[in-house]
Amino acid sequence: MNIHEYQAKAVIKEFGAPVSRGKAIFSPEEAEAAARELGGPLWVVKSQIHAGGRGKGKFKEASAGEKGGVRLAKSVEEVREFAQQMLGATLVTVQTGEAGKQVNRLYIEDGSDIEKEFYLSMLVDRETGRIAFVVSTEGGMDIEQVAHDTPEKILTFSVDPATGVMPHHGRRVAQALNLTGELARQAGKLVESLYAAFTAKDMSMLEINPLIVTTQGQLKCLDAKISFDSNALYRHPDVMELRDLTEEDAKEIEASKYDLAYIALDGTIGCMVNGAGLAMATLDIIKLYGEEPANFLDVGGGASEEKVTAAFKIITSDPTVKGILVNIFGGIMKCDVIARGVIAAVKTVGLQVPLVVRLEGTNVEEGKQIIRDSGLNVIPADDLDDAAQKIVKAVKEQG
Ligand code: ADP
Ligand code: MG
Repeated sequence: MNIHEYQAKAVIKEFGAPVSRGKAIFSPEEAEAAARELGGPLWVVKSQIHAGGRGKGKFKEASAGEKGGVRLAKSVEEVREFAQQMLGATLVTVQTGEAGKQVNRLYIEDGSDIEKEFYLSMLVDRETGRIAFVVSTEGGMDIEQVAHDTPEKILTFSVDPATGVMPHHGRRVAQALNLTGELARQAGKLVESLYAAFTAKDMSMLEINPLIVTTQGQLKCLDAKISFDSNALYRHPDVMELRDLTEEDAKEIEASKYDLAYIALDGTIGCMVNGAGLAMATLDIIKLYGEEPANFLDVGGGASEEKVTAAFKIITSDPTVKGILVNIFGGIMKCDVIARGVIAAVKTVGLQVPLVVRLEGTNVEEGKQIIRDSGLNVIPADDLDDAAQKIVKAVKEQG
């Protein structure tokens, strides 16, 4: 789960990381009030969307002006003007895709006098099973580009969970960033606070880009991006409250209500499968026969009829779906339950596209019979191969 920059800054601030003062706002009036409260003389008006590259991004609407999604303002009036322009407009960045994202909230922040911009991030390194730090003097820009062009400018190391973060980790970061004296001490403290925040909140990624040195000699986190481990969210109700549903796929939100493992994809064939392995195999075989899946959907081992109905509704509500493949191997899951769920769903939402159903396993005959008796226009299939070929053919025939 991802959160906005201003929320991420509040989280790391709790653990002692240095961030600027700022206020999240939803209207130009609030922007003006926030600017007065902060006092200036320099403010930054920052679009809050779940995507990076905002500074260099461009708004689709001409009325939003030529400047990007992060703007320096030199007066309260300018803060208000920028807020007026940016709120409601669609920002396109390298990370949003062409469609862009609508900006519904802004962060009004104290402007900093920047001397240097660095890069610092943390993530769970799956190879070592540890939390790793990635540090570079090349901040404020695309780190992938730095990794590609000048990999020697990036330092990576991981922290042994048995000892936790140690003073030598801080010294390594300071050294990599050429910081000495008071700034090196600040770097040590920062590394400690970020590690504490990362572990306490079960993060999977934390990125500070840029981490800056101000002309006053202070280290500061000028941007912050956090992803949390969704599997650990149950023990962080405070984090769960930071969720911004407008940033997420509506179908994925609906699926999470029913505890369905659902991920929207770019293709045309909607899939309903039980078990992650079978779901992956189903996506592969659809591709093998020349079409693309519209989603990954694992209804789980012991899904109820209600859950199956919900899953089917989510798939049919997607206008890009040109055909549906139900592929169930009944183990704990019973084929008759699946059949009833599918039929209940079709009765409420209708069926505009071809539907291929492949059932195998527990209560398979009962399941098939239920579908036959329903009078629905279902294309039955005997095995996975047959099912994939049939749905690809049906979708292609539609054109
Ligand atoms: P993004 O990474 O999405 O473009 P950032 O928060 O990194 O957004 O902002 C882009 C750039 O804007 C930063 O690299 C920095 O140069 C400048 N900037 C951001 N916040 C401030 C601030 N509070 N004071 C001064 N400059 C800022
Ligand atoms: Mg940034």
